[in-house]
Amino acid sequence: MTRPPLIIDVHGHYTTAPAALGDWRNLQIKALTDPSVIADPNSLHISDDELRDSISLNQLAKMKERGSDLTIFSPRASFMAHHIGDFQTSSTWAAICNELCARVAQLFPDNFIGAAMLPQSPGAEPASCIPELERCVKDYGCVGINLNPDPSGGHWTSPPLTDRAWYPIYEKMAEYDIPAMIHVSTSCNDCFHTTGAHYLNADTTAFMQCLSGDLFKDFPTLKFLIPHGGGAVPYHWGRFRGLAQEMKKPLLEDHLLNNIFFDTCVYHQPGIDLLTKVIPVDNILFASEMIGAVRGIDPQTGHYYDDTKRYIAATPNLTEAQRHQVFEGNARRVFPRMDAALKAKGL
Ligand SMILES: [Zn+2]
Repeated sequence: MTRPPLIIDVHGHYTTAPAALGDWRNLQIKALTDPSVIADPNSLHISDDELRDSISLNQLAKMKERGSDLTIFSPRASFMAHHIGDFQTSSTWAAICNELCARVAQLFPDNFIGAAMLPQSPGAEPASCIPELERCVKDYGCVGINLNPDPSGGHWTSPPLTDRAWYPIYEKMAEYDIPAMIHVSTSCNDCFHTTGAHYLNADTTAFMQCLSGDLFKDFPTLKFLIPHGGGAVPYHWGRFRGLAQEMKKPLLEDHLLNNIFFDTCVYHQPGIDLLTKVIPVDNILFASEMIGAVRGIDPQTGHYYDDTKRYIAATPNLTEAQRHQVFEGNARRVFPRMDAALKAKGL
């Protein structure tokens, strides 16, 4: 290719939404136990100017500073908190959060494109999420979804992702040709710190669930993006290869790697070096998850931990063409609707 790559960050959340959003959520939670409190979604007002400020002073400023072009943007993951209330609670909350992200994508069409959270709820059939999913793809132009394998928030009461209960969502994903980022939310189990343990556990767990099953025989085009560098997966690749061998599964390249992808939200150089050495380059997508779990500056480098573009630029394991793939090509392949939206703009 002749032009420099578009830098597409496939993992961004609206972590900087105006405070009114959190205030409304607190009201909604209070209303669950206090009948005198009414949480009317129509009482939440956030202006376009407030949205603009919350983005241009934060995510967009950092994107410009670090040199990324487009972020796939979804509601704040830890705020999804699917364990709170029931399906109706999650349904109202997801609708509000998805709408805000859609408005951000409308206000900044060159820099943000939406991915949807689903109104999951412990015990509710995954199929109940489909109307919101459809709305987000059709009305908001969302190019992906975030799928929580554990809506209980750290107690793992749902069946594994290979269970048929999830199939209605996969059928919809196949129909729309959208991938799912496998993303848990806040842990309400004291044993698991949300971003330091629960997220990484879930990434590893989702991969192992897929390894143990044969989901992708039923859905050959289904795509899962496992964030946070794949949790423990790349580091323990030999263990997973060995387990697959013992289970008489095909080689991981054939069994999983046509369908499972990893992002680069690993916040140090040796982690990215390992990821890019172990995992085929076709399966690695650039992401930073900024402004997210780790917001500080690494005293060893003087740069933000989540400035992951630097690590990809510096790793000796990638050629320029492969870096282009990680920054742009793979994201366009995994998110075909984003690819179509870019092509429609001549990109
Ligand atoms: Zn995330």
